[in-house]
Amino acid sequence: MYLPKLREVKEALTSFFSAPYTTKFPSETFIADSAYRGKPRYNKELCIGCGTCAQVCPASAIEIIDNKENFKRTLRIDYCSCINCGQCEEKCITNGGVKLTNEHSFATFSLTAPEMFESIERDLSICECCGRIIACKDHLHWIKIKLGAKAYAHPNFLLEIQKQFSEPAQSKVKSKIRREDYLKEVCPVCKHKITVTDEF
Ligand code: SF4
Ligand code: SF4
Repeated sequence: MYLPKLREVKEALTSFFSAPYTTKFPSETFIADSAYRGKPRYNKELCIGCGTCAQVCPASAIEIIDNKENFKRTLRIDYCSCINCGQCEEKCITNGGVKLTNEHSFATFSLTAPEMFESIERDLSICECCGRIIACKDHLHWIKIKLGAKAYAHPNFLLEIQKQFSEPAQSKVKSKIRREDYLKEVCPVCKHKITVTDEF
């Protein structure tokens, strides 16, 4: 009858003289374990702006903002919506464009404060015939490397290879497609039109 009570007294005394299990955050800095799933952060060296992370995000926390005025794509993670699931990191096609860090503090006075967002900006490739967005330049470059010698079979990648030596001037968007446009940076829709529409 009395034995369990004595055991509890022993546990209470042991706990009283032991170091606390909890931390003194936020008065003291707390560094979470490296495996902790905290804020996702983009890697400027490895992200190619493909948008796969935004497509797989179950919480729709990643927004793709394309700006045709300055030819830029912005990928923006909203930490208010992020559930730290890690899908973006797992499905990233470059295996490192975005990674979950051990940053754990989401405390803020405003949900629209800059620290509540993570973003990255990439250059866009625009169709020289119709002005549609093709993809991010880094994405096309990544595909070209993956294709190796086969990239020479595609006019867009052929142009990419040429750009390593000299930058051809961007031509103006035209109302009429001509066969010579095949050797320009064009989107799949215009390429199809050039192939099937004989304007001559
Ligand atoms: S490279 Fe990775 S991080 Fe960058 S947009 Fe694609 S999936 Fe997202
Ligand atoms: S961790 Fe999950 S919820 Fe957060 S941005 Fe990545 S995919 Fe979306």
